[in-house]
Amino acid sequence: MSDHMLQEAIGKLKDSGVRITPQRHAVLEFLLNAEIHPTADDIYKALEGKFPNMSVATVYNNLRVFREIGLVRELTYGDASSRFDCNTSKHYHIICETCGKIVDFHYPSLDEVESLAEQITGFEVTHHRMEVYGVCNACKPQKQKMI
Ligand SMILES: [Zn+2]
Ligand SMILES: [Zn+2]
Repeated sequence: MSDHMLQEAIGKLKDSGVRITPQRHAVLEFLLNAEIHPTADDIYKALEGKFPNMSVATVYNNLRVFREIGLVRELTYGDASSRFDCNTSKHYHIICETCGKIVDFHYPSLDEVESLAEQITGFEVTHHRMEVYGVCNACKPQKQKMI
């Protein structure tokens, strides 16, 4: 993560009239550094040592603020905890079925799927989400041992 990205994100918060508290700054910094698309709980666990008074609810509130001004995307998975992505440009995800890690990858956006869906169903398409599943490099050896 570059300092530039953090400064840019902080600038965006300031422009939106959001107060930059030390906790908010730390959550943002953690998000920008994390490549795993953390859950609110991951962020809470990583920062609780530094901010003993912080609760998971505080982390959630901060994430909600970030989401509302477009700094992060929330990826929901049914009943499981949401994951947060600070890369708001178009990209796809590959998800490790063993550890749950989510990694970004770039592929030309499947715009034709959207227009086809629109034509076939008459929906007004807003976006699409595609996820590829597999086993990450860190989890691969363990899986081989189990077999
Ligand atoms: Zn894994
Ligand atoms: Zn992502």
